[in-house]
Amino acid sequence: MIIRGKIGMKNEELEKVVATARELGVEPEVRREPNVDHQAIIGLRGDTRDIEEDRFRVLPGVDEAIRVTTKHRYTSSLYIPEHTVIRVKQVSTGEDIYIGQGHPLVIMAGPCAVESREQLIRIAQAVKNSGAKILRGGAYKPRTYPREFEGLGEDGLKILKEASEITGLPVVTEVMEPGLVEKVGQYASIIQIGARSMQNFPLLDEVGRQDKPVLLKNGIATTIDEFLGAMERIMDKGNMKGIFCLRGFRSYDDTTRFTPNAYWAPLLRQRTHLPIVYDPSHPAGRANLVEPFARAGIAYGVDGLLIEVHTDATHAKTDAAQQITPNALQRIADYARQHEKLIMEIKP
Ligand code: PEP
Ligand code: MN
Repeated sequence: MIIRGKIGMKNEELEKVVATARELGVEPEVRREPNVDHQAIIGLRGDTRDIEEDRFRVLPGVDEAIRVTTKHRYTSSLYIPEHTVIRVKQVSTGEDIYIGQGHPLVIMAGPCAVESREQLIRIAQAVKNSGAKILRGGAYKPRTYPREFEGLGEDGLKILKEASEITGLPVVTEVMEPGLVEKVGQYASIIQIGARSMQNFPLLDEVGRQDKPVLLKNGIATTIDEFLGAMERIMDKGNMKGIFCLRGFRSYDDTTRFTPNAYWAPLLRQRTHLPIVYDPSHPAGRANLVEPFARAGIAYGVDGLLIEVHTDATHAKTDAAQQITPNALQRIADYARQHEKLIMEIKP
């Protein structure tokens, strides 16, 4: 249930709502403080099925009590009206990096997989020089077929940490098993849930119990509603630091590896307060399509890009065809900055 205060709701009135919620056995969360020019919003966390809306409607200062009947609650802008901005720290300077509306687009880049110490450190330095703020790289790789490179596992995590310390870039990396979530969380600033795992419910529940940002990729054949539902599961366990990542989906058209879904950004924007990142690499499937796809993502107004970059892509052990050069990444970063300037200029 959401309690909406009247404009100019008084603090004592808010306190009464909070106390009433507690008496009724649910946890009040003040989503928007009372203020003279907007309505306060208080969400009730817990089981509100037996609570009558009237218990709140009669309180002074309350404008309305709204039962959230939708399956989407914590992900919903109805429940949380302000944009969520995720904050991670630059490892060496301690400077904050913000991912979300109202902040410059954040580039997360690096190889598909961590292949060796030398490979990762070289690429980490290159992507940093090309404008990336966050380092990506898989230590655990989901593979469609057996007998293919599945990543270096914990050794890969250690290499990611070392590259992160050398460059200062915080790390985003994938976890596939609930039992490894805590371990991956010790090495990563952002935990990635890959497309194949979007509906691995025990895994979603486990990342939901962590106090770490989670980058959730859409499944290859899932709807926007199911995508929101997967994030809802994470948030229902308490983790409010979700980031949606659009990575394309499977359609009849196989001229690209997946069908790009940057257009989901404005659709999601109408429904959720969480940041939206776009991955142009996996839908493109080949390097010469990544730049135009990335530019489309920028135009759709995403908060970040997740891009695969390699300094020797022809010898990459996974996703060799789609990894771009640091120079191409630099062009995307320049484009993003130009676009930001343009948007600032045309804003009233
Ligand atoms: C990846 O980021 O390398 C990856 C495996 O992505 P996805 O889950 O989108 O296929
Ligand atoms: Mn990949």
